[in-house]
Formats: sequence, structure tokens, C-alpha cells
Amino acid sequence: MRKGMQEKASRRPMSVGAHMALGFGVFALAAVALLWVFQIFLLGPFYQAIKTAEAEKTARAVIARLEDQDLELRTRELCLRSGSNITVSDPLGRQYVGWYINTFRDSLIFNLTSREWAELYNQVNLQGGRYTRVFQSRTAGAMELLFYAVTVRTPQGSDRLVVIESELTPLASTVETLLVQLICLTLVLAPLGAFLAVYIPRRLTRPLTEISESAKQLARGDYSVRFEGRGGRETGELAATLNFAAEELSKTEGLRRELLANVSHDLRTPLTMIKGYAEVMRDLPGENSPENIQIIIDEAGRLNDLVNDLLDLSRLEAGVITLEKERFNLTESIRDILTRYDKLADYRFPFSYQEEAWVEGDKLKLSQVVYNLVNNAVNYAGEDKTVSLRQELREGRVRVSVADTGEGIPADKLRDIWERYYKVDREHRRAQVGTGLGLSIVKNVLDLHGGTYGVVSELGKGSTFWFELPREESLPVGH
Ligand code: ADP
Repeated sequence: MRKGMQEKASRRPMSVGAHMALGFGVFALAAVALLWVFQIFLLGPFYQAIKTAEAEKTARAVIARLEDQDLELRTRELCLRSGSNITVSDPLGRQYVGWYINTFRDSLIFNLTSREWAELYNQVNLQGGRYTRVFQSRTAGAMELLFYAVTVRTPQGSDRLVVIESELTPLASTVETLLVQLICLTLVLAPLGAFLAVYIPRRLTRPLTEISESAKQLARGDYSVRFEGRGGRETGELAATLNFAAEELSKTEGLRRELLANVSHDLRTPLTMIKGYAEVMRDLPGENSPENIQIIIDEAGRLNDLVNDLLDLSRLEAGVITLEKERFNLTESIRDILTRYDKLADYRFPFSYQEEAWVEGDKLKLSQVVYNLVNNAVNYAGEDKTVSLRQELREGRVRVSVADTGEGIPADKLRDIWERYYKVDREHRRAQVGTGLGLSIVKNVLDLHGGTYGVVSELGKGSTFWFELPREESLPVGH
């Protein structure tokens, strides 16, 4: 058991902070190491390579002018410009040109004997015509000189030896200065890097840790939690999104609780009535009247409606419903629906339209839409007890509106009423008011049909709910 837990702990991924600190550390180490390698160890070889390239260039310039009249003058210019000794001789050391910088009195070529020149010539040829060497000057202590020699054959066929000799500035003191600098730099950079490697990740991850803590609170059902987005823009945005999610969750949770209360109340009331009336009828033979039976049937019908609404909405929202689409006469089905209200003798349902309109859709579901709208209008109808329906045709679409002259809906609630479970009037008015699911069903069904919908309402004057669907051609006669 213990072992299992330990294994689990060791498999935990590294924190963002640790990742960043590690990255920082590796980068700082690599930077310092590279500085050391280049400035201390490779400085000498680099310098020598550059000097050799310079000598090569000077030698090429001399060779290019070997046949010129002004070779002497040009070589002197080159000697002064490059600061190096330059000689051009034959294989036996007989010099044609020889220019020396003053400080080079102790130079090698200045002191070579004819025999040594001949040997050098051979040596250069043995090396393939090119020869480079670094040596200590004879007189000036530790001074180093770079010796570069090439052999060439002139167009006339005679052999020449071009030698360039230049001073190598001693690097020891430079390296020493750099070393001290590097040590200082390392001493400053190492603690600074370590500090930043700890500080920056901590600064970045602290808001994340806080957000994570708040999210745990949210997960435990505390919707009042607020997310703080300090630190950076991204964390600010994350916090804002989470705050929005928390608000939405809290809203849904509130509605859910309300629905549960409403639904249980709405289920219990008819059940109590059914049970009560049934018991009275069982115990008192005189009470077994058609009116009482009708009450039981009505209450059962109410229960049925409620359960059906709940089922419909959950199916619609789960997206498991498949529409059974057909082309049908919308005007006709509205007329059919209105006949269901015949028993409400004191209400009036004027329906105005110019011609019959056909639509493509699920007839049953769209009838439910009209039914829910009319039902609401009846429930919230005004003194005149009139629910006016109107069907208009506009640019390939058909628009149906259901208007009442009742209490109307406050402007700030117009958006919310389409939410499931939402009721403007929170007090329970069971005799009239439904479950708060009706408009949600309307919205879902119309969305599935690609329809549009809306409401215009004025407090105290009434509300007009409308929806629009694409209009279709009527079916051929006899179909
Ligand atoms: P309910 O079953 O409560 O009517 P609905 O989803 O159909 O649920 O409607 C949601 C809320 O919208 C209602 O509770 C009511 O407050 C408001 N509402 C709907 N239709 C009307 C209307 N015609 N007049 C005034 N208010 C309405």
C-alpha cells in the first residue's frame, strides 16, 4: 500500500515552476560555459587563425605584383599597412625585396643565412608550397612571431620564395583580464539567474495555484467563489471565463432547485386532489358523481401534461429527438388547435390570415409550439379574455403571432423567459401557471426547424409572441 502510494507520488508530473527553473538553469549554465570556452580556451587559436589569414592575404597581394615595376614600392606599402616583414627572394636567399618594420629587428628572416634560406625553400616545397610556423623571437624575450612562406614560379619560369612575418600580440594578459571579468560575471550571473529561476515561475504560477484552489471550491458546489486573475493577461482572461462559468452554474443551479420545488409541488397538488376525491367517492356513495370523476380526470390530465413537458424538454435538450418532417398546412393545424379551446366558452380566439400557408416540419412538434403559446396567452390573458392569432406571409416565410392583452412582461425579463424553468412571477399561481418549461420547448423546437422567434411586450398592455418558418408550396391537389 505504502509502496503503491510512493510510486504514485513519484509519477506526478513536474510543476510548471520546476520546468521553468530547470530551463532557466540549463540556459544560464550553457551561456556561461560557452563564454568560458570561447573567451578563454579558443581565443588563442582564433587569433592565430585570423593572423594566418591576414598573412595569406598579404602574400597574395605581393604575388600579384611580382612582375610589376613598382614591386618595391608596393611591398613597402603593404609592409607598413599590415605591420609585417615582407621578403621576396630566390631559392638561395638572394633577396629582391625586403622590408622590415623597425621593431622586427630580431626577426627570423632578417637573420637567416643563405644555407638556411635554401633549407627553408626545400622545406616549403616539401609542405606543398606553403608553410606556417609560430616561433619565439630570438632577442625580444617571449614575443611570438608568425612565419608564413609560399613558393611561386614566375611566368618567366624562375622560382621565388615570398615570406611574411608578423608579430603575434601576447594573449596571456588579455586572457587574464577576460578571466577576471568572467569570474566576476559568473559570480553576479549565478545568483541573479538562481533568483530569477525561482522568482519568475513563482510569480507566474501563483495565480494559477489560486485559480486551481478556487476551482476546487467551485467543484464542491460553492458558486459564490470568485477567481482572481492577477499576474498576466492570460490568467486574467482565464479568471474572467471561470467567473462567468461560476455565475452561469449558479444560475442553472438556482433554476434547477426552483424546478424541483415547482415540479414536486405541481405533482403533489393534483395527486392529493385525485387521492382525496377517490377516497371520498369510495367512502361516501353519494359522492360518486360525474363532476367528481371529471375532477379526477382533469387532475390526472394535468399530471400527464407536466410529465410530458419534462420528458419532451429533456429529449429535446439531449438532442436525441428526430424530427418527423412532412409538408403540412400550418393554417389548418392552427385552426384545429383552436377548436380544442372551444370548452373555454368565455374566451375568444380570433384568427386572421389571408391564405393557407404550408410548411415543412414535424407537425406534432410545431403544433405543440402553437399550443404552448396559446396556452400561455390564455394563462396571462387580460380582462377581455381574448387571444388574437395572426398569420402573415412575408418573402418566402410565414409568420404566426399570438397576442394577449394581459399583464405583459418586464423588459429586463424578456430574454430570460426562454430559459428552462424560468418564471417571471416567482409566486406560485398553480391554477393558471405551468411549469416554466413551455417557452423552452418552443425555443428548442423552432431552433431544430431553423425558425426564428421573439416577443414584443408592454407591461400592463399585453404580449405578442411570434415565430417564423420558411414557407413551402402547397401539395398538389389529391395528394
Ligand atoms: P410557464 O409554464 O410558467 O408558462 P413558460 O416557459 O411557458 O412557462 O413561460 C415562462 C414565463 O414567461 C412564464 O412563467 C411567464 O412569467 C412568462 N410568460 C410567458 N407567456 C406569457 C404571456 N403571454 N404573458 C405574460 N407572461 C408570459
